[in-house]
Order: sequence, then structure tokens, then C-alpha cells
Amino acid sequence: MESKGYAAISGNAKLEPYTFERRDLGAHDVALDIAYGGICHSDIHQVREEWGSSLFPMVPGHEIVGRVTSIGSSVSKFAIGDLIGIGVFIDSCRECENCLAGKQQYCLGGMTGTYNTYERNTKKIAFGGYANNFVIDEGYAVHVPENLALEGVAPLMCAGITLYSPLRHWKAGPGKKVAIMGLGGLGHMGVKFAAALGAHVTVLSHSPSKRADALDMGAHEFLVMDSEEMFKEHKRSFDLILNTVSADMPVEKYLGLVKVDGTLVMIGLPSAPLAISAGALIGSRRSLSGSMIGGIPELQEMLDFCGKHNIVSDVEVIDPSYINQAYDRTVASDVKYRFVIDASKF
Ligand code: NAP
Ligand code: ZN
Ligand code: ZN
Repeated sequence: MESKGYAAISGNAKLEPYTFERRDLGAHDVALDIAYGGICHSDIHQVREEWGSSLFPMVPGHEIVGRVTSIGSSVSKFAIGDLIGIGVFIDSCRECENCLAGKQQYCLGGMTGTYNTYERNTKKIAFGGYANNFVIDEGYAVHVPENLALEGVAPLMCAGITLYSPLRHWKAGPGKKVAIMGLGGLGHMGVKFAAALGAHVTVLSHSPSKRADALDMGAHEFLVMDSEEMFKEHKRSFDLILNTVSADMPVEKYLGLVKVDGTLVMIGLPSAPLAISAGALIGSRRSLSGSMIGGIPELQEMLDFCGKHNIVSDVEVIDPSYINQAYDRTVASDVKYRFVIDASKF
């Protein structure tokens, strides 16, 4: 199947129009016309090789929503015309304990990413969602509720699940004080989910101009942590801090804001290692943890939750020709709050 999209031809290159072939429809595959594709900061990290060397040509994009246009002979989960979502992985080993438990993102054989890797079955380069169509095994896609504003759905497939999963795992809800570090694509979904789950929500941001938006999204407090006094004033305040910041941060200082038995979860993925003293954990029996996206069952649970609570991402819809500017604006924390590509324009 011919596909029209945008690709980076080599590391750090500008993205440009790119035509390529998707694999033929297998018995368990569905094909879809993409409606919208989100731009995640992880796309930028990988195009710019900030996580080590990447695979090129790269069609990034792992926040995908569209409608099914054809189905393989053995497909039972989807029908032609269904609204369907695809996230950060398109396959996994299917037999390890984590795959069997529906936590495919932690597959012991390694999940197969949506791009920047080879497809498990064809061994060809996997091309992502900055394109007009897609082919995927039905087991790795999910149903999207029809009542949601479609342009705001694509970011749920990465930004959404990446915040929903830790909020559920650490039981965010009434009586819990949750802080979200960084009000970007991921962070703003965290605010919406934590508020919908009934937690008390604080945003820790370096952008004072985002205050009104944060409160509109459901945050109860908005703090700019720009002085030692702020760290003193708010020490031991939060049960759970989710750090979505894409740049290096003084994580040890933020650990001081965590209550006894509370947890700080690393979600943002800058490249430098962390420096943490043992005392920052020991002093309040704190935990420092990490969390990566979510598995297929949890993705479906999140989309159903979004359908019920009418939760979508706040987006700026762009034409493909704007992708390179969108990258620069995302890195400058200047997006409200996710760029989404109109795939009808490829
Ligand atoms: P984003 O939209 O660029 O948001 C990142 C936010 O971090 C910015 O909006 C900004 O928030 C804050 N920030 C950025 N630069 C900063 C700096 N120099 N100092 C302080 N704060 C800064 O990115 P995203 O798409 O949400 O992704 C965030 C990170 O999560 C990326 O590293 C991405 O690769 C990673 N990620 C991880 C997973 C996972 O499964 N763990 C999944 C997806 C993405 P304020 O303006 O409010 O300060
Ligand atoms: Zn992502
Ligand atoms: Zn596995």
C-alpha cells in the first residue's frame, strides 16, 4: 500500500515529504486512513538522536487516530469504518509474562516501536504516523469512542496513556495531593486525568504564562518553583509527583517536595543521568520510580474513561508543512498543548 507522509532522511535533518510502501494486509491486520497524528517530544528526541543513534529514513509519529478502511481475513476486533487508535508500539513477543499480563510496553523481548525500529514480521523499517494511512495487527490497536472531538484524540495514544497509567498505578484520587511537573503535551493530560480522578492537583511549571490554562484544565494550584523559598515552603507536600519535563532537572530538590511514603515518578526522558543522594530518599522513606506509556488493555480503559468524562487533548492543528516549526516551538515550551497534524493534507 502506498503511503504519503513526512520523514527525516538522516539524523537531525528537517522533515520533508516522503512516499513509501506499507506492508500488504495480513490475515490479522487492519488498514486505516489516518485522520490526525500527534507530535510527541519523543519524536523530536529520536529525530535529533538525543537518545543515541536512530534508524533513518524515519517517519515519526506514535499518536494516531483514523478509520478502518479494510480488514484481513481473520480480523474479529474491528470492522470497516471503525474509529481506531494506535500508540507507541505495534507489536511485542506476545508470550512473556508481561505481554500475557497486558503490559506489552514492558515486553521482556522488547516492544516493537511504531517507528525507529524494524517490524517484527517483515524485518523492514517501521514507519510511523506522520502519514495518510497505516497497517497494524488488530491486537495492537484500540477502539476510540465516537463522542470525542477527533482532533484531540490522537495525543491520548501517547501523552494520555503515559499520565493515566501512573495516576492509576499510584492510586491518585480523593485525598491525594498530586503534582505534575511541566505543563506540556504529557503534563496537561496529567492535570485533566488527576482532576477527573478527584485528586488535589498542583502544576509545577517554569512558564508563569500557563497559569490560567492550568487552572482551566482542573488544576487547583499552579507554582513556579523559581526560588529556594518556594522549595522550603512546599517541602513534604505531595503524595505523588509526576515529572514530565523533557529537559534535565534538579530532581533531588523536587524529591524534597514529596511526603513521607510518597513517590516521584520519572516520565520525561532527558539524556543525562540523575544525581540523587541516598538521604533524599531515606529521610522520608520516599520512592523514586519511573513509568512508560501503558499496555493495550489499559489504553482501552483510558479511552473509555475519556469517552465517559469527555477528556481530550488541547491541540493546535497544523498542516504537514509546519512540522519543522512545530518541533522548534515544542522544544521552546511554546505549544498549547499538543501539535496535531491534519493527515488529510499529506
Ligand atoms: P513537551 O510538550 O515539550 O512538554 C515538556 C514540558 O517540560 C514543557 O512544556 C515545559 O513545561 C517543561 N520544560 C521543557 N523544557 C524545560 C526546561 N528547560 N526547564 C524546565 N521545564 C522545561 O513534551 P512532552 O511531549 O510532554 O514529553 C515530555 C517528556 O516525556 C519528553 O522527554 C518525552 O520524550 C517523554 N515521554 C516519556 C514517555 C514515557 O512513557 N515515559 C512517553 C512520552 C514522552 P512548563 O512550560 O510548564 O515548565
Ligand atoms: Zn510519545
Ligand atoms: Zn513479551
